[in-house]
Amino acid sequence: MYISTRGAKDAVASAEAIIAGMAQDGGLFVPETIPKIELTQLQGLLDKSYQERALFVLGLLLEDYSTTELQQCVDRAYSSQKFDHQAVAPLVEINDRTAVLELWHGPTSAFKDMALQLLPQLLTTALTKTGQNDEIVILVATSGDTGKAALDGFQDVKQTRIITFYPETGVSAIQRLQMVTQLGSNVAVIAVAGNFDAAQSGVKAIFQAEAFKAQLRRSSLRLSSANSINWGRLAPQIVYYFSAYLDWVKTGRLSWGQEVNFSVPTGNFGDILAGYYAKQMGLPIGKLLCASNANNVLTDFIKQGCYDARRPFYQTASPSMDILISSNLERLLYHLTLGDTAQVKGWMDELKQAGHYQVSPDVMNKIEQHFYAGWINDAQTSDTIKRVYDQQHYVLDPHTAVAWQIAANYRQETGDDRPCIVLSTASPFKFSDVVLGALTAKSVTSQSEFDLLQQLSDVTDWKIPAGLASLENMPILHDQSCAPQEMQQLVAQVLGQTK
Ligand SMILES: *Cc1c(COP(=O)(O)O)cnc(C)c1O
Repeated sequence: MYISTRGAKDAVASAEAIIAGMAQDGGLFVPETIPKIELTQLQGLLDKSYQERALFVLGLLLEDYSTTELQQCVDRAYSSQKFDHQAVAPLVEINDRTAVLELWHGPTSAFKDMALQLLPQLLTTALTKTGQNDEIVILVATSGDTGKAALDGFQDVKQTRIITFYPETGVSAIQRLQMVTQLGSNVAVIAVAGNFDAAQSGVKAIFQAEAFKAQLRRSSLRLSSANSINWGRLAPQIVYYFSAYLDWVKTGRLSWGQEVNFSVPTGNFGDILAGYYAKQMGLPIGKLLCASNANNVLTDFIKQGCYDARRPFYQTASPSMDILISSNLERLLYHLTLGDTAQVKGWMDELKQAGHYQVSPDVMNKIEQHFYAGWINDAQTSDTIKRVYDQQHYVLDPHTAVAWQIAANYRQETGDDRPCIVLSTASPFKFSDVVLGALTAKSVTSQSEFDLLQQLSDVTDWKIPAGLASLENMPILHDQSCAPQEMQQLVAQVLGQTK
């Protein structure tokens, strides 16, 4: 069963937690007890496919779903039509101490697909299970990757509609094209005149517009969110930690029970938190390395115990990690304080009101047991892309490059030489300007996105992902735009709620 990090008493089954997204008291849903996997059980998964491993791990986490239900969800989410690699999330060994886990073989070439292909399936199954006939309306404000991954995941999924708002300024040309060409009878994509904050504030305001929500409810429409605080997005991410470990053991170069470190490019703390859950479930994980860019609020927190969001916001070469409030940290704090919900609520209130909070030495000790943190700037990111390509002939996207370098820094700083898996969160083609710039040391700003894709492919001999290559010839299907204050009206229009 799942309970709130902030103390609301009622425990709910996972289906309900996934439908609600967030607890009534503003907290996040966490498992009341974290299930354990024995090493012998793990051994049984060695020769299984990604889908079969997912079925096993998710079965422990989502107990109220039947095996048949989960099987159907997993098969739909991780099919060969959706993922261009048979292994779904292949592990690529770079040398005998380091491997890269490629999480970007899904339809939108970013790791968000790992969760956002499964979430819609889990959600509609939950609606059926709980006998709810409402249509769920997913509202998304996106700074890039999430919007497209959510659109693709929810495309033509029954009993759901999805409306995505993206800022006119702030998404890359490829990211915009990915969204405005989106197919599906239940999707809408709208540009907002303004930046990401304007789009996000607009969506938040709609979630708080009680009269409007009541009006929607009378038409059996219910607003929901697909962002990374939903347990239905976190649970799928736990699977690939297990799968990566199993794949490495399978090569014969990692022995059973041997501890592995994971280095994770981190923004909202969802991906790395999934690693913490995998460790608590019994996977032999040593340290989780929290890798950041110049928005290094988590580095300071993990090193010093003070979370301080009062700092400048930087736009970096790894934009999906440009974040100052990492929502999923709240779940970690809940577990590290052994469920002290009053304490967690206190810190979250302090963060909201004063912009900072300080955890106790006891919590600090526990953080140190499991985590290490570091950050690098854009120039270092670029150097890393170039160096790894020159030495290993492997192409890193900017986010993965940050995690790669933090793994190297950690090894040097601590002498901890355990094998390390670097989580790769985006295809380098999603950020071809930065990657090409790093590899060729030339300025590439004046060229079209499609020229850049082709050039990157020519330089590296890597194949352009089909989903990106095909964009050039897809018709633009969504050309609506609005001012931030018109967003609610647009939602009403899309849903046929205007008179
Ligand atoms: C979302 C994202 C991240 C950050 O993941 P979190 O779960 O938010 O920490 C890192 N890299 C890429 C490419 C992403 O899209």
